[in-house]
Amino acid sequence: MNRLLSIKAILTFFIALVMCMPAYADKVYNVDYVIVGGGATGLSSAVQAQQLGLKVVVMEKQAITGGTGNFAEGLFAAESSLQIRQGIDVSKEFAFKTIMDYSHWRANAPLVSAFVNKSAETIEWLKQFGIQYEYIGVGGFGGPLTWHVVGDYEQDGKTYHHGKAVMMALTKTFVNNGGTLLLETPANDIIKKDGKVAGVIGSTKDGEKVIVNAKAVLISSGGYANNKEMMKKYSRYPEMIFIGQIGKMGDGIQMAWKAGAAEEGVDVMQSYRPGLAGFHPASQLIAAAVQPYLFVDPKGHRYTDESNITEWPQSGNSLERIGGTAYSIYDDNSRQMFINQGIDMPLGEWVIYGTKLDKLDDEFNKELAKKNGNVFKCNTIEEVAKAIGADPAILKKTVADINKAADMHKDDLYHKNARYLRSVSKAPFYVTKLHPRALGTLGGVKINEKAEVVDVDGEVISGLYAGGLDAGGMYGDSYDLKLGGGTFGFAINSGRIAAENAAKYVKGK
Ligand SMILES: Cc1cc2nc3c(=O)[nH]c(=O)nc-3n(C[C@H](O)[C@H](O)[C@H](O)COP(=O)(O)OP(=O)(O)OC[C@H]3O[C@@H](n4cnc5c(N)ncnc54)[C@H](O)[C@@H]3O)c2cc1C
Repeated sequence: MNRLLSIKAILTFFIALVMCMPAYADKVYNVDYVIVGGGATGLSSAVQAQQLGLKVVVMEKQAITGGTGNFAEGLFAAESSLQIRQGIDVSKEFAFKTIMDYSHWRANAPLVSAFVNKSAETIEWLKQFGIQYEYIGVGGFGGPLTWHVVGDYEQDGKTYHHGKAVMMALTKTFVNNGGTLLLETPANDIIKKDGKVAGVIGSTKDGEKVIVNAKAVLISSGGYANNKEMMKKYSRYPEMIFIGQIGKMGDGIQMAWKAGAAEEGVDVMQSYRPGLAGFHPASQLIAAAVQPYLFVDPKGHRYTDESNITEWPQSGNSLERIGGTAYSIYDDNSRQMFINQGIDMPLGEWVIYGTKLDKLDDEFNKELAKKNGNVFKCNTIEEVAKAIGADPAILKKTVADINKAADMHKDDLYHKNARYLRSVSKAPFYVTKLHPRALGTLGGVKINEKAEVVDVDGEVISGLYAGGLDAGGMYGDSYDLKLGGGTFGFAINSGRIAAENAAKYVKGK
């Protein structure tokens, strides 16, 4: 009995000893604020936190910083000094109401308000790092001018454009200000002590364990676009084709959920113009295919107002609801117009309005030679129907209807703007398959207007922040392109908001 008791005492002693020992790690950092992901949200948060006196570590999974922020072109603002100087009347009130109305007030109103109210000041804030603005554009064609497109930026003899310019400027500022940037060091878990967040565990590419002890943690790992299982579980269209996403496995979202975060907006996608997998956003084959003339479902029916291609969420949603496959059909007159006169519908900054598609024939013929069913060139509408598996009678009626609408300058079916009514009459006919595409996922972790992560009861998880693509609440059920630059803008603004509140928290204010 005595022997048993003494073994139990020894065991208890060792367990207590192990629990008191700090966890082993090859590398340990002790800072105020650790950031998971060195993209748009993470870098803006890091620099803002430094300015507020915090010691910061940024953990970045890839060998370079910037993430999807490197692909962005411009960011949203309302009432910026540039807008006011140019007489552009986009008030904060208008922007807030537009976002809330679009989401049917499913968006997080305090968060949207905080974002809109900060947006103009963020345009100014970026200027101190050498960022300039080229022009202010729209989201959807004809929309309000809110998209502050970033101009050229020089660093070490090289010129960077758009989002890449912002990412380069913030990275340099962070490192020059003494920040610790850990590249190729993915974060794996959040450390919690006494119910509070206390840091992050990660690993280097050589398998070394890294511990960053910090009072405050920001989750900004850029969503879960590359995680097939999460896409299957949460997305309305799991086969989504993503653009500009590398290693986005939802790491930060999973870490936050494990630490007690509630879910918000995890099924929302940043819908983009439909297209094909493996094609660059500047592809002329896709630029021609998404000109808004005639899109049909696999049975040969028109299923949407093609001109909503400029309002990506509408375009993506209507394609998703017919199963995710459509065909764009244009005739030889249109093909010649694309090549000789230029395109009518711009593709943002990638293929601008009026671009003459001088590479179209080349790109189309290369794809045609692959015989993979992505494109067809046909001499009759019956041949088109056969190629896409539609009933020829249905497709012939659809084509006759669009030709009549083009003649009459009136679309009685979907009331498309007459500018985009063009007939499909001169052979050969060019057919391109279209599938839904997206620029990322748009939610996961529930936050409040301070970018603090909250649990299912709405209680703040002390010390834990999230922003950008990892955070939900900016949208209802669909991405909002009414106001251009919303997601890049939200990333940078939510990063800054998180830093400001983390600084107060760390300093005990
Ligand atoms: C082609 C294209 C054009 C776009 N243009 C615009 C535009 O003009 N305007 C606009 O508003 N939006 C635009 N966007 C969207 C915009 O780029 C994103 O909304 C923004 O970059 C999101 O910022 P983020 O910080 O959430 O993610 P990111 O910028 O992607 O940063 C996330 C970072 O986290 C890293 N990471 C992932 N997992 C881990 C881990 N476990 N540990 C450490 N690091 C990790 C990633 O490698 C990445 O660097 C565009 C997107 C694309 C693809």
